[in-house]
Amino acid sequence: MMEYTPPTASETGPFRFDNSFARLPEQFYARVEPTPVAEPWLIKLNRALAEELQLDVEALERDGAAIFSGNRVPAGAEPLAMAYAGHQFGTFVPQLGDGRAILIGEVIDRNGKRRDIQLKGTGKTPYSRRGDGRAALGPVLREYIVSEAMHALGIPTTRALAATVTGQPVYREEILPGAVFTRVAASHIRVGTFQFFAARGDMEAVRALADYVIDRHYPEIKGDGRPYLALFKTITERQAALIARWLHVGFIHGVMNTDNMTVSGETIDFGPCAFMDTYDPKKVFSSIDQFGRYAYANQPAIGQWNLARLAETLVTLFDPAADTAVDLANEVLTGYGSVFQEHWLEGMRRKIGLATAEDGDLERIQTLLTLMHKGNADFSLTFRQLAACVEDDASDAQLAGLFQNPEALLPWLADWRGRLGREPRAPDERAAAMRAVNPAFIPRNHRVEQAIDAAVRGADFSLFEALVDVTSMPYEDQPQHAAHAEPPKPGEEVLQTFCGT
Ligand code: AMP
Ligand code: MG
Repeated sequence: MMEYTPPTASETGPFRFDNSFARLPEQFYARVEPTPVAEPWLIKLNRALAEELQLDVEALERDGAAIFSGNRVPAGAEPLAMAYAGHQFGTFVPQLGDGRAILIGEVIDRNGKRRDIQLKGTGKTPYSRRGDGRAALGPVLREYIVSEAMHALGIPTTRALAATVTGQPVYREEILPGAVFTRVAASHIRVGTFQFFAARGDMEAVRALADYVIDRHYPEIKGDGRPYLALFKTITERQAALIARWLHVGFIHGVMNTDNMTVSGETIDFGPCAFMDTYDPKKVFSSIDQFGRYAYANQPAIGQWNLARLAETLVTLFDPAADTAVDLANEVLTGYGSVFQEHWLEGMRRKIGLATAEDGDLERIQTLLTLMHKGNADFSLTFRQLAACVEDDASDAQLAGLFQNPEALLPWLADWRGRLGREPRAPDERAAAMRAVNPAFIPRNHRVEQAIDAAVRGADFSLFEALVDVTSMPYEDQPQHAAHAEPPKPGEEVLQTFCGT
């Protein structure tokens, strides 16, 4: 299924498509063409990504507005909307599907990896339900900024290839400019894709989907005696690692519904997502998350809950004996906790500059987090500033100044220095290692809002461009952009984010 002979460029236009998903059984998707828009205009093309995907960049710069708005379907594309279901805030919805997104095809990137190219906001599909199939400019820019920032941070994520405006309004609470987002993903298969077929009792489709996922994402599993269990275990480990990485940078996804969780291990669906400023484990931004289901510190547990839903779809494939199958599933699910904890602790050790493990590190990290919470300290700045404290004690005051009660931090700093003293690394080497994991620049929420506001109200994309640029090198000190590292001033703080769908 995965054999691939690239056609020559002259036959193909800007993309050399090879569409494996379109070769799956017909209940997996609906074939549907994008609905043309009035006056498309290309806001941004991600040239570096286009090159990585071996696309014809010049052709895209010339024809990108037409192609990425859905007005011109490029040669070799086989547009389709994928079917999926999902638990939304705990409630199962048996049919969701791509209601406003169209997969145009797959390409093989420079590293031999298969990548999906999807247009989001290109009009109605058979899965649109009551929606208009469109996207507003704000959420498109947010997804562009945040997904590219996540990538630059080194976190597995879907990518932004392009953003276009459509020249047509969309009607939400207010009238807004319409836009289309071009998303690139290892695949768009979600936990909810498995649920779609399992809910219909179509186990043949579940098996075909599992085989496809193994083939596409985890070919090393193929020889395994229990391939479907190995698949479930691998997806579980990827999610545990992913969510640990989110926590390390203060990222809150916002809508971890099972339809918004990939089986590839990439972050997907940047709706009301946000990075926190001051550290608060209960932090929620999303306006629709009333009970904090998807709060910062709840994310690991929700990941496990979602994986349990995935297990339900696959369990009968684990073993012919039902009891054994359930035991095997539970073993993996129980293991998730320790896999997560390992990833989380390892990353947190690095954040505070430790290269070795010692008993007591966990408590040391938790004490710091508790102090940060009590002291309303900024999450990113605290860890970034800690690197400076490795190089000279004079930086301590600046770090402590990030806390409401600076004195309270001093005993922790003394203990931390004692712990560092038991490691051989030289201070400059340690500080560099810390700066490589503690970003100076994240897409701060108030900056994202300002960039969106300027674009939506004044068609001014300069703040958007600046934010994309500065967050593309999150671990570099960029003194000329120091203001981007700063938390919001009083009055600038964003209290809520919206899906904007
Ligand atoms: P989301 O909250 O963006 O993850 O979307 C949840 C579901 O609603 C998915 O099936 C989407 O395709 C669908 N959806 C969201 N917005 C729209 C829209 N404007 N038109 C049609 N379907 C939509
Ligand atoms: Mg979604």
